[in-house]
Amino acid sequence: MPFTAEMDALRACLPQRVAVSRAHAANGQVASYIPDLAKTPREALGISILDPSGNSASAGDSGLPFTMQSVSKVFTLILALMDRGEHIVFSKVGMEPSGDNFNSMLKLELVEPGIPFNPLINAGAIVISSLIKGDGPQKKSARILHFFRELAHNDALDYNLEEYRSESSTAFRNRSLAYFLKDNGVLKDDVEEVLDVYFHHCAVEISCPDLARMALVLACGGNDPISGQSLIPRRFVQIAKTFMVTCGMYNASGEFAIGVGLPAKSGVSGGIMTMVPGRYGIGVVGPALNRKGNSVAGVHLLETLSREFDWSLF
Ligand code: GLU
Repeated sequence: MPFTAEMDALRACLPQRVAVSRAHAANGQVASYIPDLAKTPREALGISILDPSGNSASAGDSGLPFTMQSVSKVFTLILALMDRGEHIVFSKVGMEPSGDNFNSMLKLELVEPGIPFNPLINAGAIVISSLIKGDGPQKKSARILHFFRELAHNDALDYNLEEYRSESSTAFRNRSLAYFLKDNGVLKDDVEEVLDVYFHHCAVEISCPDLARMALVLACGGNDPISGQSLIPRRFVQIAKTFMVTCGMYNASGEFAIGVGLPAKSGVSGGIMTMVPGRYGIGVVGPALNRKGNSVAGVHLLETLSREFDWSLF
């Protein structure tokens, strides 16, 4: 289907597709290990789709603010690559799916040389936070926020400080991961300072149109087609998208590749960022998660749309 005709078809069908997928939220649970996240409405479901000409389609709770959580890891990886280059980044984190839970410590001890398997699991993303350039945690966080604002083309993006504090004061698991990494010699900096950068970027609050705009930059090889700005070197977009395919949807990345067939990253707040390369940036939110940690209704909606519009890359 030509571009604009497909966008018209999307605008027409999205409200009904969202209504059908929303019913699946009843099969999921809102994450509560970060206490503040438990307040999120379980039945919410929203989506925004944006094309390179700036045409968009949104439906459901697309305006619901939510924190980026693990979705932010894609962009901190890119910033670390821009700051330090591939060689340094991949001497500290691997390139393979771990097969373990996102916050697992298991392989850090069992598999030499004790570096995280990839940059999208928590251990890997904590190491990535330590690689962001900046004089101290505040400057590093400020650079990350500036980068996110640039990608979303939205200067109003900011932290949800309640959620930041809620995570920071209860993150015993992430603290143990970070101290373990310090003991392994992978983390050189002060552990609490590194974690502060990590908790801050997880707590950046966005909504579906922001996420769609950020995803569109990835869909267009690092260029923002709407502003004409070149924001990310193509090679780093390629690396990020590859990780999204292999490890972006936790231990359901294979299932998502088969069911939807697009690079994607999800987070515990129920966000999913995905894209149809060259065509669309897509942001989804649906806080009820399945047992693998992905938005139940969000995945259902993306499966439906991918099949209907033949989006799978495979
Ligand atoms: N801030 C969350 C954590 O570290 C992010 C996890 C996620 O979204 O997968 O637990």
